[in-house]
Parts: sequence; C-alpha cells; structure tokens
Amino acid sequence: MHIKSAEFITSARSLPDCPSWDTPEFALIGRSNVGKSSLINLLSNNDSLAKVSATPGKTRLVNFFLMNGSWCLVDLPGYGYAKAGRSEKFDFNERVGDYLEQRANLRRVFVLIDSRLAPQRLDVDFLVWLAATGVPFSLVFTKVDKQSAAKTQASIALFQGRLVECLGSEAEGFACSAQTRVGRDEILRRMDASLRP
Ligand code: GDP
Repeated sequence: MHIKSAEFITSARSLPDCPSWDTPEFALIGRSNVGKSSLINLLSNNDSLAKVSATPGKTRLVNFFLMNGSWCLVDLPGYGYAKAGRSEKFDFNERVGDYLEQRANLRRVFVLIDSRLAPQRLDVDFLVWLAATGVPFSLVFTKVDKQSAAKTQASIALFQGRLVECLGSEAEGFACSAQTRVGRDEILRRMDASLRP
C-alpha cells in the first residue's frame, strides 16, 4: 500500500473524546520505549509525525493519525510505566481497555514486542487479556537491526512458544526495524488486507 498522506487528527483522553466516525482504525500498543512512535513514523513515511522520545511513558493520550484520508493509525499509551503512581497507572490502563473493548471501528491491534528481550510477563498478560476481547491482533517484533537475524528468530520462537502455552496458539507476527525499514511493506499489506470487506 502506498502512503500518500498522513496527518495528525486529534488526541483523546478517553473513549467519549475519540472522533465519532466510522473510519477503520488500527491501534498500536506496547511497553514504553518499545519503538511505537518510530513505527508510526516508518509506516507513514514521515519522520516527525509521532514524537520519538527517549523518555519512557511520556505518551498519555490516544493519538489519531489519518492515513491516505481514509483509515487511521491509533497510538495508544504504553502499558506498564513503572514510574507512574499506582492509581494513575490503573486509570490509564482502564481507558485503553475501554477503547480496545468497545471501539466499533477498530479493525486490528498491533502489539509491539522488543525482539531482543526474553518473553516479558507484562506483554504476555496483556495478550491474554486482548485475546479474550476477541479483537484481531498481530505482533510486531521491533528493533531487529540491533541483533543478528538468528537471535531475532530464536527470540520470536520463544515468544510464540509462550503464547502457545498461554493462548493455545501462535499469533501472526512481523519482524520490523524502523532503521532498516524491514517489515514495513508486510505490515502495510496486512493493514490493506484488513481494510477490504
Ligand atoms: P515508544 O516509546 O514506544 O514510542 O518508542 P520510540 O519510538 O520513541 O523509540 C524508543 C527508542 O528506541 C528511540 O531511541 C528510538 O530511536 C529507538 N528505536 C525505535 N525503533 C528502533 C529500531 O527499529 N531500531 C533501532 N536501532 N532503534 C529503534
């Protein structure tokens, strides 16, 4: 899919604040610093669309980016921000939960996983919760340029093995690098397929 235009539309604090439209949406979510902003910039071919930040947990709002005037990338706050206070963290997750459980025009969720890490409990717990909602999802294993292809493959296999234990099956996954742009075409192709009736 060719990206001809990408524009920031709005930030929402909660579900009622989200745009009222039936534009198809793809949500991106993952732990802080996993590379979500970089992925949005990569997909949109725009290095400054989402802010890339070295400070974990800065994103607090649900951000909407309209692509080609017809579908939307939705940037969800990262989960598991350790520095946030207990009640803030809970509240924050609840809003994301509302969006994921109730948004009628949400087509698919892309869950970002750092390809260099052993399976993290926070990611696996989140995926178990997400799978129970019934919303279709894919995994994006990020930052694959930072290690050998063999290490990435081993890490992905380990993660998929955990999902088989916890969910009973593997999930669709993409290996991706915002630096080398590997994975971009495959992810966009997946989105394109999800937009077709
Ligand atoms: P976010 O907090 O999930 O939005 O993560 P960011 O997109 O801000 O990325 C966090 C850090 O990881 C930044 O320093 C990025 O430059 C870096 N980063 C993100 N994706 C990649 C990648 O694919 N390759 C490399 N080498 N660095 C990346």
